[in-house]
Amino acid sequence: MADALPGAGLNALGDHPHRRLNLLTGEWVLVSPHRAKRPWQGQTEAVPAETRPEHDPTCYLCPGNERAGGERNPDYRGTFVFDNDFAALRPDAGEAEAEIGGLLRARTEPGLCRVICFSPRHDLSLPQMDVAAIRGVVDLWADEYARLGARPDIGHVQIFENKGEMMGCSNPHPHGQIWAQRSVPMAAAREGERQAAHHAAHGRTLLADYLSLELDLGERIVAANDHFVALVPFWAVWPFETLVASRRPVRDLTALSADERDGMADILKRLTVRYDGLFGVSFPYSAGVHQAPTDGEPHPEWHLHMHFYPPLLRSATVKKFMVGYEMMGEPQRDVTPESSAERLRGVGEGR
Ligand code: ZN
Repeated sequence: MADALPGAGLNALGDHPHRRLNLLTGEWVLVSPHRAKRPWQGQTEAVPAETRPEHDPTCYLCPGNERAGGERNPDYRGTFVFDNDFAALRPDAGEAEAEIGGLLRARTEPGLCRVICFSPRHDLSLPQMDVAAIRGVVDLWADEYARLGARPDIGHVQIFENKGEMMGCSNPHPHGQIWAQRSVPMAAAREGERQAAHHAAHGRTLLADYLSLELDLGERIVAANDHFVALVPFWAVWPFETLVASRRPVRDLTALSADERDGMADILKRLTVRYDGLFGVSFPYSAGVHQAPTDGEPHPEWHLHMHFYPPLLRSATVKKFMVGYEMMGEPQRDVTPESSAERLRGVGEGR
């Protein structure tokens, strides 16, 4: 993509309000850099550090404990995965369609929901786990993607983590989820269409070209190693939103070499440590892995990546809400992605 440079850079925009295109979705975000200079008069009180025991006898995810559904967890030592006792999707949904008045449509959706415990330790989260333990999580993600994706009734496997009460996470034990279903859900489908169009036009993945441009520019890179890059995307909506992508264009986790899996674990550690260091709290977010659908097609356009969407705005207690104009119009942000990346880069990795 270096041949596409130079064009008019961001400097041409000054501090003026502008819209940025999200390459992966084709949607636009309104950026208002001049508003970030407003003085903040809201609350900025410190949040007391939370302390948790290594094992909580009342936690339904700790080793050896009984779950709400009545089953008992094994005495696991690394990761542990099981079917969600309160699944939003079920494999026995059957096959039925409804159409009412030629306008209203609905269709049954088979699928299944899994829960992944990242660690037996109740008191840890990804940034406190060592890279080898995070590698175990990456391996389990890859195994579950392969195993669930091989089912004929599963066309898409969504791996994600909701972290923190602010994100609606009901249990602080480090864990994530997998929702596997027949259809490709809307966010992934949209990104698939955009990636397919770029691949058809250029013969390269959209994210390979985007990464190469961002690595040339440097201003939005947060952390990088030989195999993975973490950056604040040009079109970020959430204040400290990041995108983590493999340098090599691979369609899914199973295509990663052993070294690349280590690289992914390393970048996840380095990114989440920075998040926790930013405001000195266990940083809440929703994160997820985007990879090729498991519908039997080759999908050379798909480029493995993760999104991190953290809601915190300027301190541990000030959260961004999507209200008003953002619900009626489109997403908007005041702090620029470039300044967010600079702040995240400035946080030590503390290793
Ligand atoms: Zn994506």
